[in-house]
Amino acid sequence: MKIIIDQEECIGCGSCAVVCDKYFELDGDNDNNAHFKANKGNELEIDNLECIQEAIDICPIQAIEVKE
Ligand code: SF4
Repeated sequence: MKIIIDQEECIGCGSCAVVCDKYFELDGDNDNNAHFKANKGNELEIDNLECIQEAIDICPIQAIEVKE
């Protein structure tokens, strides 16, 4: 599945990086928006959500989307 962080919506609150440090970090060069650690981008292909589900649940503006 593909996980997408909507960079237009993200407010850089950092909650996703707190609950899912393995996958998310804030990008100091891009308005402090969240991106994926693995590729520094806003899209990631994964097999299992793991803590990404917690990040989806905690994001205050639903900026993290799953596409099957
Ligand atoms: S929790 Fe949502 S709004 Fe906050 S940094 Fe992560 S993606 Fe952006």
